[in-house]
Formats: sequence, C-alpha cells, structure tokens
Amino acid sequence: MASKSGLTAEELFKSGQGITYDDVILLPGLISFALGDVSLETRLTREIELKRPIASSPMDTVTESNMAVYMALLGGIGFIHYNNSIEEQVGHVRRAKRFENGFIMEPVVLSPEHRIEDVDRIKSRHGFSGVPITENGLMGGKLVGIVTRTDIDFETDRSLYIRDVMTRDVVTAPKGITLEEGNRILKESKKGKLPVVDEDGCLVSLMSRTDLRKNRDFPLASKSPSKQLMVGATVGTRSADRERLEALVDAGIDVVIFDSAQGFSSFQIEMIKWAKKHFPDLQVVGGNVVTAEQSVGLIEAGADALRVGMGSGSICITQETVAVGRSQGSAVYDCAGVARECGVPVLADGGVRSIGDIAKAVAVGASCVMMGSMLAGTDEAPGEYYYEGGVRLKSYRGMASREAMAAGGDKRYLTEDEQLKVAQGVSGSVVDKGSVVDYVPYLMQGVKHTMQDMGCRSIAQLHDGLYDGRVRFELRSPSAQREGGVHSLHSFAEPHRLPRA
Ligand code: IMP
Repeated sequence: MASKSGLTAEELFKSGQGITYDDVILLPGLISFALGDVSLETRLTREIELKRPIASSPMDTVTESNMAVYMALLGGIGFIHYNNSIEEQVGHVRRAKRFENGFIMEPVVLSPEHRIEDVDRIKSRHGFSGVPITENGLMGGKLVGIVTRTDIDFETDRSLYIRDVMTRDVVTAPKGITLEEGNRILKESKKGKLPVVDEDGCLVSLMSRTDLRKNRDFPLASKSPSKQLMVGATVGTRSADRERLEALVDAGIDVVIFDSAQGFSSFQIEMIKWAKKHFPDLQVVGGNVVTAEQSVGLIEAGADALRVGMGSGSICITQETVAVGRSQGSAVYDCAGVARECGVPVLADGGVRSIGDIAKAVAVGASCVMMGSMLAGTDEAPGEYYYEGGVRLKSYRGMASREAMAAGGDKRYLTEDEQLKVAQGVSGSVVDKGSVVDYVPYLMQGVKHTMQDMGCRSIAQLHDGLYDGRVRFELRSPSAQREGGVHSLHSFAEPHRLPRA
C-alpha cells in the first residue's frame, strides 16, 4: 500500500516550534457526499450544543445585545462584554433573552399614569416601543391598553400621560394559545404586538410580529430549554465579579466565560469552583489557556469548556509587551488534546482572519471558534460606521488598549491592587462587512467546503480523523504561503467583502 502524503497532527506539532494557521495547509481526502450533507453541529461546552461552531468575542466593539441575538439566531453564540456597569451588562442579556420568537414572558409594562417620555426611555434602553399598559403598571395587572409607535410618533409634548394617548381597543389572545394560533391572529389583525391575557383580562405574556417572522427565518437558532435565544456573558475573576455573575445568572445567561488573559491562576480556579457550587446548571468556560498544564488545571477546577489563545488576537500586543503567549495552532492542538480526554470542548479564540483559518482551527481540535475582528465591522457590532479615505469603517479595539482600559476594560489583565496599566492591545478600525445575517452563512458555507474537500461529513468525524491520523497536514514554507495567496496580479477585488444586500 502506498504511504500516506503529509503529516499527522502529532508529527506536525511535535517539533516544538510554534505553529499557527498560516504555517499549515490541510490535505484533501475522498469526497463521497454532497456539500449539503456536511454538518457543522458542534459542542460549545460539555452541555451546550450549537448548529454552527462560531462565537463572538466579549469585546465592547463586538458583542452587545444585538450581536448576541443574531449570533444565536444564526446558530452560534455571542458573549456580552463586561466593560460596563452590572446594570448595563444585565440589560444587554435581558434584551437578548427577550428576543424570544414566541411568547415574551417579561415584557416591559407601563401604567396609564406614566408619560410618553417613559416610552421613549424604554425604546432607547430596550429597542422597542410597543408597550402594554396595565392598571398597576406591572406584569400580571389588568390590561387596559397598549402604546405603539403610531400612538406617539408625532406627539411633540412628550410629557403627556399614557392614559391620554394609548389605544384602548386592544386585540388580545387567551392564555394557553399556541405559537401558530398567535401567529395567525397577528397576521389577520395586522398588529405588531399581541398581548396574551388570562380569564380575568390580566396580562400573562406578549407576542411580537417581528419575532414570529424571524423565527421562520432562522431554523438553526441556538435556544435554551426555555426556548429563549442562548446568551453568553463574560465576567472577570475579582471578588466583585461574583455579584456581577449572580446578576447575570438571574438575567438568564446560559454560559459564562471567566475572562483572563492568563487564566491559570488561583483567582480563576476559586471562581470556577465557586460558580459550579452556586450555579450548578450554569456552563462555565475557563481561560484563556495555551498549554496542556493550564488546561488540566482549569478542567480539574470544574470548567465545562476552555477558551484557548494568548497573544494571537488581531489587536493584541501581549506577545510583544510581556513576551508570554503561544502560537495559536500549537495552543489549540495542545489544549484540545487533553481537553478531549476529559470530554471538554475547546473554543479557539483570536487570530482568525479568513474562512480558512476557521477551518484550520477546527481541524487542529477546536469545537468552536471565537472571533473579534472578523465580526467587528458588521451592522450588529456596537458603534456607528464612519468614513476614512472613502472607506466605510467601524472602530475595533483591544480590551487592553489604552482607550478600552480607560473605560474599564483592563479587568482581564490586572489584579485588584494594580494601578499602573501597561497596554496589551491597540485601537483601530475594520472595514464594513454588512450584516452577520449574510456574512456568517457565507463563512460557514466556506467551512463546509473545507470539510467536504477533506472528506469529513461532520466536526466529530474530523476530530476522530485528527487523533487517529487520517486527517493529514503539511507545513508551508514562506514561498508556499506566498504561492497560496493571490499573486502576479496588478489588482483584484477582496473576496471576503460581500456586496451589501
Ligand atoms: P481577533 O479575532 O483576532 O480580533 O481576536 C479577538 C480576541 O483577542 C478576543 O476574543 C480576546 O481573546 C483577545 N483580546 C481582546 N482584547 C485584547 C487586547 O487588548 N490584547 C490582547 N488580546 C485581546
């Protein structure tokens, strides 16, 4: 029998030299199935399964409620950053959780004695303006009206009482109605919101026309058992973060990341143990780690997944500044190997610049890939677009850049008593990539092509081949890397920038 081309992963990584995505090429296998047969289903943690292996970074220019909602709708997950007050972070979680494609169990409610300006406040905080009005202004109170945009849009006096502007003749649905029945009433009534009431006319939930429409469009959505979208959040490992975590759990997060640039610390080990004891149902991601020893330490403390990466991020200067870190390919392979033995998935965090990098991260053992710069220039990322030299951009900054640290983003890098801040990140901009609703499926379709070319139908099959030597790699010399990129052209169009819909 002919010898096999290329190297096994073990042979590839055994030299001890730091290897990363660009150094490696994946060798093709036998294609015996259609592209549509490739499944990207994966595990984020011991307990959480996702349809797509993709997560957005907990950074203040990447993930707030809007990104979290769309990442979950698209089959991945978003992690809400914590460069904000507890109340603000909890607000983002609640907003994402409220984006339920069915019954909104905790709608924001007002009373007839509130004013239009209270609706304005709700719109700016929560992003919606259809508010049910109950006698006492609380959920469970008797429904007396509803305020929608059309009731208040052209009203110049925002101090008017709700009782004077609200719609009193409200189309309602009875408690116990199914999603399909509610959908039908919403369609026939042409209303945007459908309050659900009990036999005494008291408000029990709310249905939303927009949510129902989106439910149809996102069959891969990541959902909790409560049928709400799955949401992750991040906290640090300081004592004050326990209070933050309690508030986030209360708001309904499914998974938390303990955020440290170097996660193998007694602070994080204590934090993981505390969290697993107090919130046994919460999935906990430990990190960041880049070595087998660090991984074992956090898994033994109780981590349900590991976040891997130190110094590989696009905005990161950690490897230059503190000279500690690791090449991302080697880090993911090493950590994923020990984590697999314990049934713990690995999240490859940072350094991804293309579809090929996502595929390579998965090919060297990651079950999920976390991205910052790739997602930062999208419509769903926080912040406004602006133009520079005719190019449409959005800001993107490291959480340890001077700018983010000034706003409180230094928590993952410092312990409580440190005053002098050394920047480990930079602040910059990324090009407009349109909406993740178009961009993420494009990225994922590319990864499916990789899997098909390698002859792997699923991520589980790819990982089996990684460890039994069927998946083959080759190292690329600098000239092989040049050859693998676009060359010999005067100019060309950037393929990763999709035309705006
Ligand atoms: P990217 O996808 O290459 O842009 O990397 C994003 C990742 O970089 C994040 O998920 C963090 O792990 C990491 N990161 C975020 N801010 C900083 C920083 O200021 N310095 C170093 N690493 C950072």
